[in-house]
Amino acid sequence: MALPIVAIIGRPNVGKSTLVNRLAGEQTAIVHDEPGVTRDRTYMPSYWNDREFLVVDTGGLVFNDDTEFLPLIRQQAMTALAEASAAIFVVDGQTGPSHADEEIAEWLRQHPVPVLLAVNKCESPDQGLIQAAEFWQLGLGEPYPISAIHGSGTGELLDELIKHVPQVTDVPETNEIKVAIIGRPNVGKSSLLNAFVGEERAIVSPISGTTRDAIDTMFERDGQTYRLIDTAGIRKKKSIEYGTEFFSINRAFKAIRRADVVLMVIDALDGVTEQDQKLAGRIIDEGRACVVVVNKWDAVEKDSYTIYDYEKTMQSRLHFTEWADTIFVSAVTGQRVEKILELVNQAAESHKRRVSTSVINEVLEDAVSWHSPPTSRGGRQGRIYYGTQVSSQPPTIALFVNDAKRFNENYRRYIERQFRQQLGFKGTPIRLLWRSKK
Ligand code: GDP
Ligand code: GDP
Repeated sequence: MALPIVAIIGRPNVGKSTLVNRLAGEQTAIVHDEPGVTRDRTYMPSYWNDREFLVVDTGGLVFNDDTEFLPLIRQQAMTALAEASAAIFVVDGQTGPSHADEEIAEWLRQHPVPVLLAVNKCESPDQGLIQAAEFWQLGLGEPYPISAIHGSGTGELLDELIKHVPQVTDVPETNEIKVAIIGRPNVGKSSLLNAFVGEERAIVSPISGTTRDAIDTMFERDGQTYRLIDTAGIRKKKSIEYGTEFFSINRAFKAIRRADVVLMVIDALDGVTEQDQKLAGRIIDEGRACVVVVNKWDAVEKDSYTIYDYEKTMQSRLHFTEWADTIFVSAVTGQRVEKILELVNQAAESHKRRVSTSVINEVLEDAVSWHSPPTSRGGRQGRIYYGTQVSSQPPTIALFVNDAKRFNENYRRYIERQFRQQLGFKGTPIRLLWRSKK
C-alpha cells in the first residue's frame, strides 16, 4: 500500500536538499546552510511518468568524523536505505570525487539497493560531461551529470530511476478511519504519533490532489486501519523556526477538514487555552467527530487535582465536551494511549451512523409529549410534522415544522439532547435542520 521510497544519499553540501526540492516540487523540503544539521527523515511525494514514489533526504553522510551527531545521520541513512527501492547518490561535479565520496560508494556497494550516481552542479553541458566522467572511478556505473538548481539532466536520471521503482496499483477505497491529531505546539502531538506508530517505521502515503507536502501515516490495530492525517505537519515543525503558530493553525484547519475523527490534544499542565477553543470551534463548524485527549497526565500532581475536578474545569471552557469523550493520557509513559483508539472507533461509528426515519419519529413523538414546542407571542404553537436523517458524517437530521421561527434555541437544544439520549451519537456532532413547511 505504501509508495516506493527513493533515498537521496551524499556528503553535506553536494545539493541533496536542492535535488529533493526539484523532484518534489516547490516549497517542500527545507534547505539548511550549515552542513550536517540533523533532521527528521521527511518523505516528499514525487512522480515521473506513471510512477509515484517518495523521496527521502538522508542528511549529510560522513564516515571519517566522530562528531556527536554523525552516527545518528548514518543510522538514518541506513534505515532509509533499508526501506528504499532505489538510491540516488549525489556528488559535487565542481569539486570532483573526494575521499568521502569513495567511502560512501564503498558503503553503498555493500547494499543490494540499486544506486544511481548523480553528479550535481554540472550546469554547463560540455564541461558537465567531463566533470561527470571523473566519477566512473567510484565503481557505481554511469555518472549522470545534472544541475539540481536548473533542472538539467534530471530527466535522464529519472528515466533510469523509475526502472527500479515498482508501480503501485491503486488501492481500493478502504474502511480506514482518518484521524487528525491537532493541538498547540508542544502539547505532545508527535509523541502521540510515535506512541501509535513507533518512531522508526512510519508507513507513509501521500494524498493525491492535496498539497504535495501533506503526508499521511497509516497504521493498523486489531484489524482496523487508521490514517493519521498530515503527519508531515506534525514532524516538520521541528525543522522550522519561524511562524510556527500561524503555520500550524492553518495546517490544523486543513487536517480537520480531511478527518473523520479529530484528536484534540490538550496539555494537562496548561489546561484549555484560547487557541484550543479556536480549534474546537473549527471542529464543530466542519462537523467532525472528536475525542479530547488531555496529555501529560503523568506530570499532574494527582492528589490535588483529580480527573473529576479537571473535567469540570474543561467543560466550562470547551462546551463540546458535552458530546466528545475526554481521555487523560500520557504519551510518555503510554498510559491509556491505546484506549484512545477505542474512543476513536466509537466516534467514527457515530459519525457515519444512519438512523431510520421511523426511529427518528419515535424519538420526536416522545420528546414532544414530554415537553411541547413553545408558543410564539402571537399565540400560535410550533408543530413538528416529522423528521428524517438526510446525511451522515456528521449525522444530519431535517425536521419539518410549521414555522421554524417558533422554535427557540432552548427547545432546539432540548431536541438535540433527546436524540443523543435515545440514540447515542457519542463522539460526533449532530446537525438539526429546522425547515418550515407551509
Ligand atoms: P545538501 O547539504 O547536500 O542538502 O546540499 P544543499 O541542497 O543544501 O546545497 C548545498 C549548496 O550547493 C547550496 O549553496 C546550493 O545552492 C548549492 N547547489 C545545489 N545544487 C546546485 C547546482 O545544481 N548547481 C550549483 N552551482 N550549486 C548547487
Ligand atoms: P508537539 O509539538 O505537539 O508535537 O509536541 P511533542 O510531542 O514534540 O512534545 C513536546 C514536549 O512535551 C516534549 O518535550 C515531550 O517530551 C513532552 N511530552 C509529550 N508528551 C508528554 C507526556 O505525556 N508527559 C510529559 N511529561 N511530557 C510529554
